[in-house]
Amino acid sequence: MQYKLKLYNTLHNKLEDFIPINKDYVGMYVCGPTVYDRAHIGNARPAVVFDVLYRVLKYLYNNVKYVRNITDVDDKIYKAAKNKHISINDLTQETAKMYHDDTDALNVLSVDIEPKATEHINDIIEFIQRIIDSGSGYISNNHVYFDVTSYSNYGELSNKTLDDLINGSRIEVSQNKKNPGDFVLWKPVDDEFPVGWDSPWGKGRPGWHIECSTMANKYLGDKFDIHGGGCDLVFPHHENEIAQSYSANKKIMANYWIHNGHVMIDCQKMSKSLGNVCTVRSILDKFNGETIRLALLMTHYRSPLNFCSELLQQSKNILDKWYQVIMHNEITNTDEVDENMLSSLLDDLNTPQAIHNISSAMKNNNNINTAVNTCRKFLGILNKNPNEWFHEINVDEEWILKQIELRKQAKQNKDYVEADRIRNVLCENGIVLEDSKNGTSWKRK
Ligand SMILES: [Zn+2]
Repeated sequence: MQYKLKLYNTLHNKLEDFIPINKDYVGMYVCGPTVYDRAHIGNARPAVVFDVLYRVLKYLYNNVKYVRNITDVDDKIYKAAKNKHISINDLTQETAKMYHDDTDALNVLSVDIEPKATEHINDIIEFIQRIIDSGSGYISNNHVYFDVTSYSNYGELSNKTLDDLINGSRIEVSQNKKNPGDFVLWKPVDDEFPVGWDSPWGKGRPGWHIECSTMANKYLGDKFDIHGGGCDLVFPHHENEIAQSYSANKKIMANYWIHNGHVMIDCQKMSKSLGNVCTVRSILDKFNGETIRLALLMTHYRSPLNFCSELLQQSKNILDKWYQVIMHNEITNTDEVDENMLSSLLDDLNTPQAIHNISSAMKNNNNINTAVNTCRKFLGILNKNPNEWFHEINVDEEWILKQIELRKQAKQNKDYVEADRIRNVLCENGIVLEDSKNGTSWKRK
C-alpha cells in the first residue's frame, strides 16, 4: 500500500504532501536542549512529538537519519556553572545525562546522531569563514556578524518583513553592527564568559544559531528533508539558520520546517518569574512516563498545550482503561498495523484522532491485538504488562498520603514497630520518605 504523509510546513504556511529528496531516505534535524538545567515540560514536548514523527518516518522509509544536537556552550551555561561552583564540563555532562534519563522515562527513542557544539568548534569556524567569503559575514570589533540585508528572503519563515522583525522583538543593540537585525556568528571572550577557543578572529565562542547550521550541514548535507523544533524557535533561531546556510551553500537548508506549539501550565505561560516552571522530573514523582507521554499527545502538536493535573489524571484514566482491556486479551506481537490509526498519524500527526481510534477499537473489542501493537509502535505507549501497570498505579499519591498518615498515627501512639513496617512497605513500592520539622514528604526512588 502506498502511504502518503502530510505535514504542515511553516516555510509555506500550509499542509503539504511530504516528498523526501531521496526516495528511500529521510534526513531530519531537530534543535535539542541547551544543557544548563533540568528539562521542563516545554522541552519534553518536542522530544515526544518528533519521536512520534521519527517512528512514522521509520515505518514509511528504509533509512531515516535523525540528528538532534546538544547546545553545550552558552552564556546561561557559564552562569549556571559559576553559581553551582562546578566546571562547565561537569555541568553540561550532568545535565545532558539528566535529559536522557527524562526522555528515556518518556520512552523517547535514541536519535541517530547527537552532536555537541563544543565537539564541532573547528567545523563552526570553517562554516563562518565560508559565510565571510560569500560576503554575508563581516568582522567588527572582534565579533563576526551576519549581515541580514545580504539575504533577500530574510523573514520568509516567520512571514514577516525585516522591519517587523526588528520592531517586534528584543534585538541586541550594538554599535558594532551594520544593521540592527544583524546577529552574531562569533563573539570574543569577555568577563561574562571567559572560556573560549582560538579562531582567526581571536579567542571566543560561536553564536547559538551557527551551531545548528554547521552541525545540520555536517551530518545531513547542504539540503535535507525536515528541520524541526518548538514554535518559539521560528524567529530568530530558524530564520537565522536559513539565512546563514543559504549564504554558505546557496540552498535553503531544509524543505519542510515543522514546529510544535507552546506549552502552558494551568493556562499560564511557563516562566521562571511566575515560578511555575514544571520539570519532567517533578512530574515523574507523581505520574509515570507513559501517563506524561500520552498527556503530551492528547493535544495536536501544533496547538498550544495546556499542561495541568487534570490532563495528567485524564491520561492516567485512559491508560487504566486500556490496560484493563489488555489484561483480558492475549496480546501477541504483530507487524500488522491499525490502518485507521496510521492514517490519522499520516494526516499531519493527528495524535488526538489516533487516540480516539484506539479508544474505539478498545471499546468495541475490535482487533485489539493490532490496535495495541500499533499504539506501541507509533505512540510509544502500552509497553508494560498490565500487572506491572496496576501495581504501579495502586501506589498512587492518595494511597501514599494515607500510609504517611497511618505512620504518623502509629508514631503518636508510640507504636514504632508499626511505623517502621509502614515505612518498609512504602520503600518496597519504591517510595522514600523524608521526615522534617514541617512533616513528612515523599518521593519515588
Ligand atoms: Zn537549533
